Amino acid sequence: MDKDMGTTTFTKKTLGLETVEPAVTPPPPNSETGFTKKPKLGGGKSRKREIPEGLWTKCPKCANLVFDKELDENLKVCPKCQYHFPISARERIHSLVETCSFEEMDAQMISVDILQFRGVASYKDKLEAYQRSTNLKDAVITGIGKIAEFRVALGVMDFSFLGGSMGSVVGEKLTRLIEAGTEKGLPVIIISTSGGARMYEGMFSLMQMAKTCAALAYHGRAKLPYISVLTHPTTAGVMASYASIGDLILAEPGAMIGFAGPRVIKDTTQAELPPGFQTAEFLLEHGLIDDIVARKDLKTRLECYLDFMTVDRRKLVAIGA
Ligand SMILES: [Zn+2]
Repeated sequence: MDKDMGTTTFTKKTLGLETVEPAVTPPPPNSETGFTKKPKLGGGKSRKREIPEGLWTKCPKCANLVFDKELDENLKVCPKCQYHFPISARERIHSLVETCSFEEMDAQMISVDILQFRGVASYKDKLEAYQRSTNLKDAVITGIGKIAEFRVALGVMDFSFLGGSMGSVVGEKLTRLIEAGTEKGLPVIIISTSGGARMYEGMFSLMQMAKTCAALAYHGRAKLPYISVLTHPTTAGVMASYASIGDLILAEPGAMIGFAGPRVIKDTTQAELPPGFQTAEFLLEHGLIDDIVARKDLKTRLECYLDFMTVDRRKLVAIGA
């Protein structure tokens, strides 16, 4: 008490008429220099400054700071407002399949700079840089794994690799995955996130649209289910091919889904776009997708749908037909 009073008196005396809350920040020992306000800026109430960078992430929707560990534990979903942050393909697979059940396919397949594309940086340099920074070979991981008791052919895209763009490798890996699904009698699940076809591969990337859809047609002819999950953002060539032709199409909350961007559409049609245009919620209302599923519920919902969509097939297998 005595000490507090002493501090207050001391502060008032030192700072004169300046409006600084007394006794909140004790003046530093060398306060006789007259610069008593300076140290307060670096310490005192501003605790955020003492926290090392990289531990917190600011949520772009609610602007709250979320502890990174908490964000990871919550599958990269803001615990305060349920904003879905981007999640890597590996983290996604980890969150969906049973432990150690995932067998990756074509893990070493890499893109070739077939057009010898030159821009600000060459395609070859870009590929190398992204392979280093993401620890991925390309923008999709494919393989066979188990979700509950169901074996599935699972493909998961990763936006951090060149904007999840679909080049020859993405198309080929997905096609092989779908063909493996058809051959083994497995449902296919593809979780998309993409800016569209990969411009560095020109027409070769556009051909992937037809190739993946053809493989899915054969898969469908074998009466096998295909579930497409759209995550933020799923656009352009990917949305115009395999992402939009699922037997069941799910989306994550708030995901931007569409072909061309809203600005291009607005300029082309010269019309005002309705609020919420190209969001998952808007598309659900207009019948383009079947449901919106929060990330934390995706595994249990997929289990439920897989059970429902494969029941006839399991019956046939059970009676040996
Ligand atoms: Zn938030």
